[in-house]
Amino acid sequence: MLITLDLDNVIFNMKPIYQKAFRQAGQEYKKQTSWDIDSVYEEEVCCNLINLWTSDYLYKMPVLDKKIPQILNNLMAQKDIKVLFVTERLLKQPKKSFQQLRRAGIKCTFDQVIDKPGLKSDILKELRPDIHFDDSPYVIKGCIKKSVPVVMISNNSTLYNHDLRAKVEHYPNLRAALIGKGLIQKTK
Ligand SMILES: [Mg+2]
Repeated sequence: MLITLDLDNVIFNMKPIYQKAFRQAGQEYKKQTSWDIDSVYEEEVCCNLINLWTSDYLYKMPVLDKKIPQILNNLMAQKDIKVLFVTERLLKQPKKSFQQLRRAGIKCTFDQVIDKPGLKSDILKELRPDIHFDDSPYVIKGCIKKSVPVVMISNNSTLYNHDLRAKVEHYPNLRAALIGKGLIQKTK
């Protein structure tokens, strides 16, 4: 069984980047209500965001859930399960994404990290995962179109994907999604 996982806002918390972008612009932080940042944020905040997304700061983002590294390590230790980390970060620097995962305590190998040019839904279509987990509305729509089985992470920090809730199975976080798909047991 192949499981593919997005990184940002699925494993790693992106809120510090947004908070910094607003702080640099001298503005109060506002949640991202649309995937299209130009439609919801002012020019300066958008510029700051793009600069931060293409800086080393991106690779310093912490995990959303401290239990996730252990959960993923247990999952990856199972013989019949293969896990790949598939991201579409602006800088195609899989080594840095790999190092970020390792620093978080996720014991993956470099070849488990896919961070390359091209449409993510095309990359996924080729990989043929049994389940892909993502929060991006673009990627989710692409997966639906290309028949890639996808589960959406959707919560109060991902207001940009709520309009897809009627179209796709969704959970508030990765742990709940893994439990929901029967991949891990519910623990206290
Ligand atoms: Mg994401």
